[in-house]
Amino acid sequence: MRVIMFTMPTCMPAIFLGHGNPMNAITNNRYALAWQALAAKIPKPKAIICVSAHWYIPATMVTATQTLETIHDFGGFPEKLSNYEYPAQGSVQLAKDVQKLLGLKECGLDKRRGLDHGAWAVLCRMYPKADIPVIQLSINKREPPEYHYALGKKLMVLRDEGVLFVGSGNVVHNLHAYAWGERKALAFEWGVRFESRVRELFLSRQERKLIAYETLDPEAMLSVPTPDHYLPLLYIAGMRKKDEAVTFSLEGFDGGSISMLTVELGV
Ligand code: ZN
Repeated sequence: MRVIMFTMPTCMPAIFLGHGNPMNAITNNRYALAWQALAAKIPKPKAIICVSAHWYIPATMVTATQTLETIHDFGGFPEKLSNYEYPAQGSVQLAKDVQKLLGLKECGLDKRRGLDHGAWAVLCRMYPKADIPVIQLSINKREPPEYHYALGKKLMVLRDEGVLFVGSGNVVHNLHAYAWGERKALAFEWGVRFESRVRELFLSRQERKLIAYETLDPEAMLSVPTPDHYLPLLYIAGMRKKDEAVTFSLEGFDGGSISMLTVELGV
């Protein structure tokens, strides 16, 4: 008798990573090691879609090139980092699939852009072999927070196709208050308070309040002075399945004002 084996596609996790300082790409600190461990405990994805704080433009675009440039969008860091290359391939097909899901008018294809450091500085620790195709989705700065949450919902189906979503930003991100060169600086009270509120809201599935993040705390604007690093979190919130648990396997504040919290669904 012939036995036909069916393999069910695995539902991939959706993960928000606090990327913090770009030096995490080449420093073996506890953040980089935690990202490595996280990748090791989940199934190997077929492809990755990354929404990074550092592609914050007035349009919704997706990278649609097969070869991806490693963009060094920072200054004043050692040469080793400025010359770092992450040679992952892109996926034009996946970019088109994303465009189809979001609507042709809603999402453009960018045929030139590669990966910014919000994407490669974490992916190079999770997948150092760079053997998984990656595409990046921009954050449309013209749109309100609920738009980004809704986009996450539309893209959620790709999780069932073996695609891993990585939102890369920081729940709390205030560079004015950041203690440069002093990573062990004590975390600011306003940041700790804001971050724990975000955790509570994830645990109790109060997505509306996560979307209205400006009203979460009287000092919310100290934690999120600009939306770019917070918004990737809303994509992940949007792709949460019914009854799906949330975990936070990495926490900590860098330089007192950058939360390194990860938020994981389906891990
Ligand atoms: Zn950043």
